[in-house]
Amino acid sequence: MTVSQGPTIAEELRGAGLRVTAARVALLETVRHGDHLDVEAIAAGVRDRVGHISLQAVYDALYALAAAGLIRRIEPADSRARFEGRVGDNHHHVVCRSCGVVADVDCAAGEAPCLTASDDHGFSIDEAEVVYWGLCPDCSIARNS
Ligand SMILES: [Zn+2]
Ligand SMILES: [Zn+2]
Repeated sequence: MTVSQGPTIAEELRGAGLRVTAARVALLETVRHGDHLDVEAIAAGVRDRVGHISLQAVYDALYALAAAGLIRRIEPADSRARFEGRVGDNHHHVVCRSCGVVADVDCAAGEAPCLTASDDHGFSIDEAEVVYWGLCPDCSIARNS
């Protein structure tokens, strides 16, 4: 992904129809600079930027930003919800079964929906969400030694 001189975060919030608050700006910055952070890590990042904010307020802001399409929520089975700023490119994730670390995997076949369903049941499908499961390098080493 290339970084372009796009709109400021405040402009993006406004463009998405959201009220601009310091907490929302800090939250979007935290999620974008982070790597699939969970809610606790996001709350810590927001507090570093703007001071105290309740966990409930963090949840509310995450929900609003996700609903507006500015961030993406991923929730691998049996894992904590994570949030990321990489949206709209239909990328996938690889998740470690042991420690839960998450990494991005580019779309398997190019463009959304990326994978063609063998039977679409009449739906017009626009996205395929794929989670690859396995062991990360650290956990593979730990297991084999
Ligand atoms: Zn691991
Ligand atoms: Zn991702």
